[in-house]
Amino acid sequence: MTDQIPAAIYGPVRSWRLGSSLGVDLLCVDSICSFECVYCQLGKINRVTTEREIFVSTEKVLEDLQKSEWQKADVITFSGSGEPTLAKNLGEVIEKIKKLTRKPIVVLTNSTLLHDAQVRRELLKADKIFCKLDAWSNDVLRRVDKPSEGILLETIISGIFQLRQEFGGFLAIQTMILRPPNDLEIEKLAAILLLINADEVQLNLPTRPIPHEYFVETRGNAVESNSDYRQIKTISKDELEKIRQKLSQLTNLPVITRYK
Ligand code: SF4
Repeated sequence: MTDQIPAAIYGPVRSWRLGSSLGVDLLCVDSICSFECVYCQLGKINRVTTEREIFVSTEKVLEDLQKSEWQKADVITFSGSGEPTLAKNLGEVIEKIKKLTRKPIVVLTNSTLLHDAQVRRELLKADKIFCKLDAWSNDVLRRVDKPSEGILLETIISGIFQLRQEFGGFLAIQTMILRPPNDLEIEKLAAILLLINADEVQLNLPTRPIPHEYFVETRGNAVESNSDYRQIKTISKDELEKIRQKLSQLTNLPVITRYK
């Protein structure tokens, strides 16, 4: 049974923010998320849910870790085939991998479950948390992230805010920019960023090719060029730089992009 499930560990892959990053995928039985972002590199989310479950046993994750080249990684990153906080064994796995490897642990989350105190407790064991925040209104949230029913921007923001109060490690906000926000929208986003007061704000462009269907290899950086991918329309690096400068001036926070 265990052999039919893909390896829960992948990489190390190169990351512009993290260097050599070993991926931990607690969801690799399928693509599973509380969002269906229009730019998602997984191609398609097959299970849209907000219910936490154990998808891959802790035992299997640790077995796969032993078979991997984890020693070569700078950091160990929980990401993979969807939203890692949906995995009920997230806290347990973080704790065990940290003890075994003594490497910094990073979690990439879409922030939708951070209102849950148990999820936040589990995340406290990580060293760095990157929280997705793509929207400054519920309308943008619906258009860009296509959330599971009942997820509101207010709940996401208050979840990140609470985590920021409780978490002693490095907390970054990751924002995907699809089109240039107008001045009012930038001011709205800046106000949210000021409230959260993260250590860093990372602005991204959706440059990764998107497959039509999910398959497990889409979780890493390595995509096969001969496969049938589509590319999402996005803005130029110069336009992104203008947004970065405006947000930086309005918030006084370190706002970065991979180009700057
Ligand atoms: S949150 Fe991440 S995994 Fe989920 S749909 Fe968006 S990009 Fe894909």
